[in-house]
Amino acid sequence: MIRSKLLTTTNREAVSVERERLNSLVNSMADGVIAIDERNTVVIYNGAALNILDINSTMTGQALPTIMNLVDPNNQSVDIVELVRSTVTATTSRDYSLRYPDDSRINLYLSIAPVHLGYGKGGQKGHVLLLRDITHEKALEEERNDFISVVSHELRTPIAIAEGSIGNAIFIMEKTNDKDKTKEALNKAHEQVVFLSDMVNDLSTLSRAEGNKLKLEVEPINVAELVNDLVTGYRSQAEAKGLQLLSELDPTLELLNSGKLYVREVLQNFVTNSIKYTEHGSVTLGARPKDKGVEFYVADTGIGISQADREKIFDKFFRSNDERARSSTGKGLGLYITMKLARLLHAEISVDSELNKGSRFSIFIPNLG
Ligand code: ADP
Repeated sequence: MIRSKLLTTTNREAVSVERERLNSLVNSMADGVIAIDERNTVVIYNGAALNILDINSTMTGQALPTIMNLVDPNNQSVDIVELVRSTVTATTSRDYSLRYPDDSRINLYLSIAPVHLGYGKGGQKGHVLLLRDITHEKALEEERNDFISVVSHELRTPIAIAEGSIGNAIFIMEKTNDKDKTKEALNKAHEQVVFLSDMVNDLSTLSRAEGNKLKLEVEPINVAELVNDLVTGYRSQAEAKGLQLLSELDPTLELLNSGKLYVREVLQNFVTNSIKYTEHGSVTLGARPKDKGVEFYVADTGIGISQADREKIFDKFFRSNDERARSSTGKGLGLYITMKLARLLHAEISVDSELNKGSRFSIFIPNLG
């Protein structure tokens, strides 16, 4: 009698130790864990599950549908009881979202596995659900897919034009040997190859910026020299469109300590955009001292940017729907990269623009070091 009582106590202790172990194991998991019984009520759960489901009271004894509102990729509610019931072998999915009472949602990794919750043959059957918030991964995946489709689409056109023009040049040479026409076709091909090379450069800056691999090398910049250099470099491009490219330099400008290459790249982006999106008039590149740095500005008399577009022009791949903007080639990366570089330079960008009147992009670059 005494012996059997002792055994029972030892058993109970063993079970309780076992349960403690299980609890701490389940609680140490980063993923949300919920075990439900045959009637779909919660019997075990961990802190991570409370976090994901955004519940701050006990879940034990609650029915699964009352704590979890699943939606499928078509935004339709999912019958979770049916989903669990039909799960006979462990299954995982990355397609569902979890909807909260305020209608916000997160992307969910959901694994459902049938289990025996009790001991022995007669033990209760149930299911274990694993939950993980994969909103961030999904967003990255989507961004990567968008990126690949935009880049491949943008590459296709110039490659096709360059290929066609070179084929044309060969054909003309063989048939008529007309030098002017051959040159014209080769120039067209050359233009497209330059566009492709610019694009590859942008993409490489972009990938270094995204991987936080851009290094800032601060050096003294002769601001007047930089502005004059850019104006000389872009004058023929502006004049080819009948535009005037002007410079405005405050005579009190001094040396600026900053990342020369990046300052140059930012200004190049502003100037090429202004030339691109201006049909008549002028583009002005100017610089003046401001606070403890220099304010550069690029003002044009171009098509302007609507207020709604102004909020998006620095987004990745954004291109206005304005037909006049669409008529020139672009990939919507220039200003996105510009903003990344500006952050690196601790600079501030501002944009003033009026539709059909023109735009003015200014950037304040502080003296560093
Ligand atoms: P891209 O010029 O390659 O399209 P950007 O990132 O440089 O890409 O610019 C994004 C968009 O901002 C452009 O497509 C255009 O609609 C608008 N934009 C930029 N600069 C100007 C400007 N100076 N005048 C009018 N629109 C502009």
